[in-house]
Amino acid sequence: LVGGGPGDPGLLTVRGRALLAAADVVITDRLGPRGVLPELAPEVEVIDVGKTPGHHPVPQSRINALLVEHAHRGRRVVRLKGGDPFVLGRGGEEALHCLAHGVAVEVVPGVTSAVSVPAAAGIPVTHRGVTSTFVVASAHDEGAELPAALLTAPADATLVLLMGVTSLATTAAGLVAAGRSPQTPVAVVERGWTPSQRTTVGTLASIAQVCRDRGVESPAVVVVGAVVALRESLGDLTARPAAAS
Ligand code: SAH
Repeated sequence: LVGGGPGDPGLLTVRGRALLAAADVVITDRLGPRGVLPELAPEVEVIDVGKTPGHHPVPQSRINALLVEHAHRGRRVVRLKGGDPFVLGRGGEEALHCLAHGVAVEVVPGVTSAVSVPAAAGIPVTHRGVTSTFVVASAHDEGAELPAALLTAPADATLVLLMGVTSLATTAAGLVAAGRSPQTPVAVVERGWTPSQRTTVGTLASIAQVCRDRGVESPAVVVVGAVVALRESLGDLTARPAAAS
């Protein structure tokens, strides 16, 4: 169970690369370091279970079944996931399913987008004198209640929202209703660590409209809090253009 990091192949761990090089089967998602796939030996079977436009993703139950089927045939299976497998990535479910079916599991942590994508845009999730707390949550259920962790977080905490683009307007309004200042800075970082990374900045009051105007799309990480202002001094912090390998 390999965390692939946010997209740049350079952010895949050494252990992750070693396991990929030794794999018979690689089961991969839409997010993550897809650039490493063409480097795999031609006999490696690559199964893409990610969503592509107009196509539905492979259901989780089928992914779980594929992992076990291939492993029971004696094959070395790498389940390559975006970011870290255990941060809003369903990696725990996949590991539990494998263990329940007698398949040994090794986890290789990955560089999570929750921290690394803000970093790429010059936004440290903590900063001395600004905040020492950050909260990571998924915000993808439009119309649903905001995650309790967002409502009860300390006033100075940085909020990091994954899967938060479609519900951005309701999330921002909910945070203001919960007592955060409408002037709280917000950044939305699309496609972090790829050559088309783009950052949109606003406030809780303005961000939904600004993102609509700019056509902001998933995947993106939403960052709420005073740390966003550091971007004015730090700017983008990735080496560009991203190398091909
Ligand atoms: N396990 C992953 C998160 C999976 S949830 C991790 O640790 O990073 C999927 C969400 O992650 C996306 O909706 C988006 O919010 C975020 N994400 C992942 N990769 C990203 C990237 N390269 N740029 C921007 N957001 C990304």
